[in-house]
Amino acid sequence: MADTALHTHQCPSCQTPFEVYLAHSQYFGCPHCRAWIQLNSDNLPFVAHPKTGYTDSLSFVKIALGMTATFDQQKYRVIARTRWGANYIEYYETQTDSGTKTGYQNNSSKYDVWRLQNLNTDQGFWLIQTERGFYFSQIFQSPNPGLPYNQGQELFANFVNSYSLRVTEYGKAYLYFFEGEANELPLINLQNQLKYYRCNYGSSTYTLEIEYDNASGYNLEPYRYTQETAVDNNRLILEAFADNASIQKTRQNAKSLIFARNLSIFVFIGLFILFMLSFGEKKVVFRHHQDFGQLGDTLPKFTPEFELKNQAYLIELEVSLPTYNNQEVYITTELYDEEEEVMVNELAGDFWYYSGYDDGERWTDSQTYTSQYMQVRYAGAYSAEFFVEPKEVSGHLIFRVREAGMIWYYYLTPLLIVLLVFVIVQLMIYWRKLE
Ligand SMILES: [Zn+2]
Repeated sequence: MADTALHTHQCPSCQTPFEVYLAHSQYFGCPHCRAWIQLNSDNLPFVAHPKTGYTDSLSFVKIALGMTATFDQQKYRVIARTRWGANYIEYYETQTDSGTKTGYQNNSSKYDVWRLQNLNTDQGFWLIQTERGFYFSQIFQSPNPGLPYNQGQELFANFVNSYSLRVTEYGKAYLYFFEGEANELPLINLQNQLKYYRCNYGSSTYTLEIEYDNASGYNLEPYRYTQETAVDNNRLILEAFADNASIQKTRQNAKSLIFARNLSIFVFIGLFILFMLSFGEKKVVFRHHQDFGQLGDTLPKFTPEFELKNQAYLIELEVSLPTYNNQEVYITTELYDEEEEVMVNELAGDFWYYSGYDDGERWTDSQTYTSQYMQVRYAGAYSAEFFVEPKEVSGHLIFRVREAGMIWYYYLTPLLIVLLVFVIVQLMIYWRKLE
């Protein structure tokens, strides 16, 4: 059978056209008005069904009726969906300080079961979509040929017992709506529920579904016995459905997220290297040794002119004094732009060095260094001028101008921003199971 519609009909309730692909399909659920239409009948009778809510997609991957997908190089078409709600009891294990705690807890969820049909081979499987992710589901073929395939209940019980498995989840599911084509409507017509039991074995989950008659409280026939495998990486689903324009867009967004995450790591490492380098030794562009010897006569004292070549460049002005015993000096350093003949910066500070003995212990108290960053507004010739108090002090100072480059704290905000971006994007990748 080729991937072309067998029939095209019009919904008798809302007049929206729809396509039917399988010859044995007997019913069609209109995705627009939710009418259930009986096919293979002259006048397409239908049952009106109130349109419920819960048509929203259960995850960021928005699968729709009629989409095509490629799994294992086989092409499939989405021919039906059923939306279920379930109330169930779930087994849990949690690690506490006093050991492993186990028990059962009540839970509820909703999920979609999409029928993916291979139109060339008449084979297919179900894709289950929950808020937690995707699962592949197919009819479980018993590895034990001695057990009849139809006896799902027996088979399941046997399976659970022979491997000493634990039923990790059991409950009842009820139908919200069905859309697309189907060859039977057992649960929908009877307003019944689906009782189910699940257990895990290996990397799969095995589920027995039993139709349950709400009115009488009786179990009816086993409905399905399935094997489910979780899809660990949702990119697999996005790639399978990539032929569909809307999924292609989602796929591009997923790629962008991963690109943004990788870029944030790259930028963070780059910034961090620059941050570490900013602690390194800076190039000295001018150095001046100023003797205090005859300060009393010749104050203030100028340095020779020096060139600051780069406009808008950050420099560090630094004044340091070698140790002088037990004296305190106050030094003001003024920086002049020689071309404009204006003072452009001032650096002032107290310097001292005291030491002595206290109970036989030597102590020192000193301040021998001060520095300040400044940005060079104009490239050109500069000089510095020193005012020293008191004037009768002896010794010398060292004045240095360094290229400051970037200062370490300039990197803190960008580093924090990039880290924040990384955390947010990584969480989105994690929640969307993109890796
Ligand atoms: Zn309709």
